[in-house]
Amino acid sequence: PIPNRNPEDIIALRRQHLNPTLSMSYREPIKMVRGAGAYLYDQDGNAYLDMVNNVCHVGHCHPSVVAAGQVQMAQLNTNTRYLHDNIVEYAKRLSATFPSELSVVFLTNSGTEANDLALRIAKTYTQANDIIVVDHAYHGNSPTMIELSPYKFDGKGGRGRPAHIQVAEIPDDYRGRFRKDDTQAGARYAQDLQRAIAAIHARGEKPAAFYCESVLGCGGQVVLPAGYLQAAYAHARAAGAVCIADEVQVGFGRAGDHFWAFEAQSVVPDIVTMGKPIGNGHPMGAVITRPEIAQAFITGMEYFNTFAGNPVSCAIGLAVLDVIEQEGLQAHSKQVGDVLLQGLNELKQKHALIGDVRGMGLFIGVELVKDRHSLEPATAEANTIIEFLKAHRILLSTDGPYDNVLKLKPPMVFSVDNAREFLWRLDQALFSVS
Ligand code: PMP
Repeated sequence: PIPNRNPEDIIALRRQHLNPTLSMSYREPIKMVRGAGAYLYDQDGNAYLDMVNNVCHVGHCHPSVVAAGQVQMAQLNTNTRYLHDNIVEYAKRLSATFPSELSVVFLTNSGTEANDLALRIAKTYTQANDIIVVDHAYHGNSPTMIELSPYKFDGKGGRGRPAHIQVAEIPDDYRGRFRKDDTQAGARYAQDLQRAIAAIHARGEKPAAFYCESVLGCGGQVVLPAGYLQAAYAHARAAGAVCIADEVQVGFGRAGDHFWAFEAQSVVPDIVTMGKPIGNGHPMGAVITRPEIAQAFITGMEYFNTFAGNPVSCAIGLAVLDVIEQEGLQAHSKQVGDVLLQGLNELKQKHALIGDVRGMGLFIGVELVKDRHSLEPATAEANTIIEFLKAHRILLSTDGPYDNVLKLKPPMVFSVDNAREFLWRLDQALFSVS
């Protein structure tokens, strides 16, 4: 059996034998031993309400998903070069959640692999090289994705923007140049793509792709202003680029009103990339695109990926889609998300520290500021609140360029009661820092 070590010994072994760049959550990291629904349990049996994990989408260790994996694992696991029902059933079922134009699926093992593959497809289809991304975005951990993630190349240890990448201004209508009172903010922010495109042309290149998350995660849970993607896609397409929606964080019903968050912007992307929630914690990712783009990818060079699309992963992916449907989790996300948004807006009336509340469904950001006019970020306060909530057994994280945005993205089974408990504790936490 694997020894049951105490947290100090685990930390010592991590230091000795593990990737030294890994960080740990909290000043005193927690040893978790079990998960169920929206809860994680530590080695002493304490239950923590998990508001961080958007990967275990339909709930930690959901019995249907676990069973689907167990049954298939005991029967067969191979690669995609044999015929199997699971993979075609999964591709068909996944396609059915998208607008009909998007119908060809590629399976991968992670969000990074999905974004890497999307890039390869986009470059092949357009025969172009340069890429436009949105400021502060994160699209993955491979060298190629680090190169197109401002969150990484402009962050600690980063080497700055590579020449073939253009960064479009973040369409943040709380902090940015165009604010919520400007009904044209979306189109105005999208105008910056024209500058990016001109810069690419000035290099003698053409744009292959415009990557944009459908709600900006690392950017600070930023909801795109109305009309942003419509205008941005029009600029990108006029220059010959394909438009890629990164739904790795927000997809699969989390947005509440929509199964895919890009739908809130009334656009149909050319390529959509998926990850995190797709396998409820089992490593999976996917790309979906239009048939004509998939056809152009036929160059003689195969895209083969040893593990991707194996029968076990597809069984798990199918179980996740089933549970979302059977448990009505998209509508649930909308309902609970609205309770959270309303409660948070009430807290905003009470606590000057809350500058902005935004989000959709169970993907919400609460931006903390020291001053509502200067918008000075309340970064230390955000961290104190995270530790306060942890002491009361609620797990929450922060994000955004200033790390001052409370990031709410719980498993989708998070209940109205869970929401009320959180709002009550957050009220106390806000009093404690004011
Ligand atoms: N895109 C986005 C928007 C993400 O948030 C992440 C992961 N944080 C990725 C891509 C990369 O996914 P993965 O870690 O599964 O490779």
